[in-house]
Amino acid sequence: MDKQRDFVLRTIEERSVKFVRLWFTDVVGTLKSVALAPAEVEGAFNEGVGFDGSAIEGLTRTNEADVLAHPDPSTFQILPWRGEIDPTARMFCDITTPDGQPAVADPRNVLKRALAAAADRGFTFYTHPEIEFYLLKSSKVENGVPVPVDSAGYFDNVPGGTANDFRRRSVRMLEDLGISVEFSHHEAGPGQNEIDLRYADALTTADNIMTFRTVVKEVAIEQGVYATFMPKPLTAHPGSGMHTHMSLFEGDTNAFFDASGQYQLSTIGKQFVAGLLRHAPEITAVTNQFVNSYKRLWGGDEAPSYVTWGHNNRSALVRVPLYKPGKGQSARVEYRAIDSAANPYLSYALLLAAGLKGIENGYELPAEAEGDVWSMTPAERKALGYGSLPTSLDHALTLMEDSELVAETLGEQVFEYVLANKRREWAGYRAQVTPFELESNLEIL
Ligand code: GLU
Ligand code: MG
Ligand code: MG
Repeated sequence: MDKQRDFVLRTIEERSVKFVRLWFTDVVGTLKSVALAPAEVEGAFNEGVGFDGSAIEGLTRTNEADVLAHPDPSTFQILPWRGEIDPTARMFCDITTPDGQPAVADPRNVLKRALAAAADRGFTFYTHPEIEFYLLKSSKVENGVPVPVDSAGYFDNVPGGTANDFRRRSVRMLEDLGISVEFSHHEAGPGQNEIDLRYADALTTADNIMTFRTVVKEVAIEQGVYATFMPKPLTAHPGSGMHTHMSLFEGDTNAFFDASGQYQLSTIGKQFVAGLLRHAPEITAVTNQFVNSYKRLWGGDEAPSYVTWGHNNRSALVRVPLYKPGKGQSARVEYRAIDSAANPYLSYALLLAAGLKGIENGYELPAEAEGDVWSMTPAERKALGYGSLPTSLDHALTLMEDSELVAETLGEQVFEYVLANKRREWAGYRAQVTPFELESNLEIL
């Protein structure tokens, strides 16, 4: 720790860093930032930086407003988009109360608690996200719809197009920030792109996702376009998911791998998937937290609606991907419901907790879904025992309200806050008379 602090202080000096931004995330998943003068950084390491937590979404109750941000020196990076003149750096922070207790509603702390519970059982949790987003001409709509920067599709190479330049620049910046990118391509929707981050422990991945969103927004501004992580910006085109690949390691061994298992998935891996399936409906209000998230989940286009798993089945909620022979270490399972607007800390805490419940209680993995689950009739799905994900935010909240797993994992304060905040969003939505109603009703009723 001290070595890392020394490294940070030395780098600030050597690179003449002028500002150090302290980053943390609120309960909704918005990145917060406060800039420190370089001379203050040593004090921030020793004592933290005080601020009014009650002004941050969900962080504290008003009677316990004072909190401290403690920068994590291992996350120190110079921000590439600020340029070489007067460099600016950033560190992620852990939030504590004035007496040094971790703030219960700090999302980073919620994830750390879940990771500690996994570590007690000897597991390290690794994740890698595939992040989809849209590039639009601007944040303004035209005739009621957003305008994408191109009309290309899946894996298209668009000569001279915005998207190629955009991805090249973003990937370069991410690499400069120490975030490795595995893959990037145009996605199926017009203006839709995907960038996949290399796997890392889940806390690092969650930090990386927050950084990723900032990088993508910054590059968009630089290139005169607008980037959105909204789950379903266009009615007629696919939404933006954040499929997440997950694995548990025991020391250096991938606990999901068993050469003799079905799809080389170990018993632990199967129980983890069974846990994800059993608890998926009750965690969806967090992994898909907006009214708009449900337009994606129920809008077709390869977003999952039903609680199934499969090997190479894109209609499944959980997919067990293929990997090359001899690559047992990359055994993993992919959760496909979570969207690009989720709070990664809270979502990863819940996905881990759901999987661990499956291991702890030895849940049985149901039969794999074969064929296209969407094209089955409701009766066929019922006969096969395939449940559904919630169909709206309202529905998701009702399921979450009764969930011990979510209450335990998030802690009472975050649990209550999410429910109240999201109930407000639903009430606001429910009160709207929408263009759909006007178009289908006004002229005939
Ligand atoms: N965009 C799709 C979704 O909403 C996923 C497409 C894919 O398989 O990458 O989940
Ligand atoms: Mg994709
Ligand atoms: Mg995927």
